[in-house]
Amino acid sequence: MISIKKNIDHHLSNYDKVQSSFSWDEIAKELNELPDGKGLNIAHEAIDRHAQTHLKDTVALRFIRKDRSFQDLTYGELQKQTSKFANVLQKLGVKKGERVFSFAGRVPELYTTALGTLKYTAVFCPLFSVFGPDPVFQRLSRGDATVLVTTSLLFEKKIKPLLERLPSLRFIILTDASEHFSAQIMSFPKLMEQASAEFSIPETNPEDAALLHFTSGTTGMPKGVLHVHQAVLTHYATGKYVLDFHEGDRYWCTADPGWVTGTSYGIITPLLHGVTSIIDEEEFDAIRWYSILEEHKISIWYTAPTAIRRLMRLEIKPCEEYHLEDLRLILSVGEPLHAEAVIWGQENFGIPILDNWWQTETGGIMIANYPSMTVKPGSMGKPLPGVEIAIAEINDKELKFITEPNIQGHLVLKKGFPSLFRGYLHEEERYNKCFIGEWYLSGDLAKKDADGYFWFIGRADDIIKTSGHMVGPFEVESTLMRHPAVAEAAVIGKPDPIIGELVKAFVVLKSGIESNEEIRMDIMGFARKLMGPAVAPKEIEFVESIPKTRSGKILRRLLKARELGLPEGDISTLEQS
Ligand code: ATP
Ligand code: MG
Repeated sequence: MISIKKNIDHHLSNYDKVQSSFSWDEIAKELNELPDGKGLNIAHEAIDRHAQTHLKDTVALRFIRKDRSFQDLTYGELQKQTSKFANVLQKLGVKKGERVFSFAGRVPELYTTALGTLKYTAVFCPLFSVFGPDPVFQRLSRGDATVLVTTSLLFEKKIKPLLERLPSLRFIILTDASEHFSAQIMSFPKLMEQASAEFSIPETNPEDAALLHFTSGTTGMPKGVLHVHQAVLTHYATGKYVLDFHEGDRYWCTADPGWVTGTSYGIITPLLHGVTSIIDEEEFDAIRWYSILEEHKISIWYTAPTAIRRLMRLEIKPCEEYHLEDLRLILSVGEPLHAEAVIWGQENFGIPILDNWWQTETGGIMIANYPSMTVKPGSMGKPLPGVEIAIAEINDKELKFITEPNIQGHLVLKKGFPSLFRGYLHEEERYNKCFIGEWYLSGDLAKKDADGYFWFIGRADDIIKTSGHMVGPFEVESTLMRHPAVAEAAVIGKPDPIIGELVKAFVVLKSGIESNEEIRMDIMGFARKLMGPAVAPKEIEFVESIPKTRSGKILRRLLKARELGLPEGDISTLEQS
């Protein structure tokens, strides 16, 4: 058990106290309604209300370019830019609730588009810039895109060939074109130049649609998840209690806005708290990342296990080689964070890495290790105050809650928190299947210990049934990762006539280690000793890399399909290595 040593007055200094007195109405009071009681609008809370205060000249967004030069946008400037974009939408005749997509790298125009769209009360939907034409087409057509903001290069390469098949896409706005091409294909700078910087945000109802996000596609075809403006309450509450924002913080979320983390926590939440958010336009590079942490004096850093594992593999000792005194929180989401990684954080940064759990569907962080709380490495932490989370068995569409500690079951969340999704686009039946009465079924399995901490077991779809045991791949992978030769591991169940399923592991060895029978037996023996022969892998295959989604999640279903010679299914989010 490890406690954070850095001295700060945390917003959540006593979990039980905050939890017992928490109310969403009180959170709403910390935000400012639009004038004349016109409701809570995400962009108003994130920008305009700060632009009227001493924060006007504070840097809201700092964009770091490839050559590490940077561009700053203050809250005052961001207010003007986003109002202009809202006016552009008005001029184009876009209607409230229509969908505005972005398909670009992490450039300033993407952020202006996102927040300007929210001001206008249209719906923002980001696409990851490295998607090929097919996944882009799928999402634009399923999402009924009206407007697309993209770059000239991406337009030429990936969008132009699709245009005929996208009749409802009325406008394409190119971030880097100096002139309009036609009434449909227009220049972003030109439209902005002609737009007024004054925009009065229309009445925004709590249930007004705000965001459309496609899931990572880890378990199948990505789902289009719809969120409403009221989600701002969760964003704000998690910024306060989990990310523990204080004025003057410099924050860096490494996720791309193409995924929900990059929007909820890479755009909205830091702005809600008036802090400075750093955005790196480039992809992962260890030296670059450590240099950014140092140069921009990052105080709060939100990243993912996949990046942490890549850093852990290197010989770099960040705290000895870089000045990282300002760094007081490191958080991780997206996949289970192995206990080793939490401890590595403690040893290398002097602070443990705080794991937290949530999904595209929950819109914001739901379970977290809070900065003030004792961290149990390997655990996801405790529920966000205001959200009821339980472990349950599901039998014949009925829930039976498990109250005894340390028994695994389905992780379920009680409806009623503001950021729970309001639908899967065009898939009502699939949406309805996610609920039993008042409870949302997350599709993940977990257990809760006697202290109220939740521990991730696996996705219900991935659970392996072997010789009458239920085995979570994550548990086996975690054990394998403790072997000194193992860099990465992915575990699946392979159908077996005798034992039901056989535990099979795909292992990437650390660089310089040769894959041979001796090392295979050594890893196998190591796992058996720690886990017992029933659960330890019976087969180990050495591979060069593990297939992952672009958001960094292990695609076990793909490994399984390949193993069984079955069709690969939707691989639009597969990271090409
Ligand atoms: P799809 O729903 O399309 O299969 P996905 O579930 O991977 O894709 P996301 O919504 O991006 O799409 O990911 C949420 C899932 O990621 C969670 O349900 C959980 O399985 C996993 N996850 C996220 N954070 C954690 C965490 N801290 N520990 C363990 N698992 C996590
Ligand atoms: Mg999911």
